[in-house]
Amino acid sequence: MTTDELLARHRAVLPSWMPLYYAEPIEIVSGSGRRVTDAQGRSYLDFFGGVLTNMIGYDVAEVREAVQRQLGTGVVHTSTLYLIRQQVELAEKVAALSGIPDARVFFTNSGTEANEAALLVATNYRRSHQILAVRNSYHGRSYAAMGITGHRSWSASALNPLQVSWLHSGDRLRGLLSRLRPDEYVDAAVDDLREVLATQTAGDVACLIAEPIQGVGGFVAPPDGLFGAFKKVLDESGILLISDEVQTGWGRTGDHFWGYQAHDVTPDLLTFAKGIGNGFALAGVVGRAEVLNEVHATSFSTFGGNPISTAAGNAVLDYLLEHDLQANAARVGGVLLAGLREVAARHGIVGEVRGRGLMIGVEFVRPGGTEPDPVATARVFEECKRGGLLVGKGGLYGNVLRMGPPLTVTEEEAAEALDILTGAVAAAESGG
Ligand code: PMP
Repeated sequence: MTTDELLARHRAVLPSWMPLYYAEPIEIVSGSGRRVTDAQGRSYLDFFGGVLTNMIGYDVAEVREAVQRQLGTGVVHTSTLYLIRQQVELAEKVAALSGIPDARVFFTNSGTEANEAALLVATNYRRSHQILAVRNSYHGRSYAAMGITGHRSWSASALNPLQVSWLHSGDRLRGLLSRLRPDEYVDAAVDDLREVLATQTAGDVACLIAEPIQGVGGFVAPPDGLFGAFKKVLDESGILLISDEVQTGWGRTGDHFWGYQAHDVTPDLLTFAKGIGNGFALAGVVGRAEVLNEVHATSFSTFGGNPISTAAGNAVLDYLLEHDLQANAARVGGVLLAGLREVAARHGIVGEVRGRGLMIGVEFVRPGGTEPDPVATARVFEECKRGGLLVGKGGLYGNVLRMGPPLTVTEEEAAEALDILTGAVAAAESGG
């Protein structure tokens, strides 16, 4: 079957609202290190990791062997109603790394379910379905997760089962932050939080949920310390803070193991997904026992924390820590960011380069202003693919390229990616 035939069959049987990247979508059939190969035999340097899903590279022997050991027992999975050794071991490691005291861990299969579980816990604990969320956020695809997603193209908020009030995002090009210094912004955002609580809620709010760096929203981050300043206000009424670490967790931001650590705060709950499974379906929520145990019914997931996913998760986490990939993210991310800032200085269509560690966004605008340019973005995106580089696309206006390679990426690979991207930006700027 050719890729064209596969595409026709995909379009005939899958729903029309499932997005596929590229004018000519690709089928990835193999991978090694930071490179993947498509069905035509074309090789790409993968600087998106399938939406930050690949954290330690492709074809890692330690992960393969851990999963094969479990398969060798003859059991893929029975049920989480029986004890699973590697689930307990992984929970212990995640609890210890979480920074949350007396932590409990509940495993799910996706980030969406992890956020659902966190909302279930918070609404039960607080006996309230009022939620504070952030504009331009993304938290998943279930009814409740969509309800707290403040990004128009991904949200169905008209059908929201929760009562949600929206806080400002950290957009530095055209949001509130474009008019204020970061320290002024923190004060203004805290004032806004107080006003939202006083005017839009009865005070008995369940939680505030936020991404330390908005992923789908285009790698947009508020100034450091903001969540800590928020938490002081939230604590006055016992409102919980949930940090959605689905994209920012496990050292990707270089400076910190969790995104929340840039904010001088410890959240009550954090959610994780994506990278920890390195391709296997593994996610979950971590929280203080006092909070996480407070669900007024039994809760259960057939596959959440199954032996295959947690065998992979343990191997991924051990590999990550043994190779100190957080330090690599800081080092290679710094090189990449510096290189991209030079590209920005030479090309007017680059409005902003921003990021932390290996989570770097490049925002495209009409030269001389801040008007988003999704057309130029799409051109750069396609040119990168032509040059053999996979990156992501995002942002409220579809005008941000996102780079989130595996944390094992080398400086040589960063230089190669930078070369391809530089050529793509030049081609897009000249209307190519
Ligand atoms: N939260 C964040 C911050 C995400 O980026 C995503 C996925 N893009 C999700 C939650 C949902 O995760 P999943 O797709 O695994 O359900």
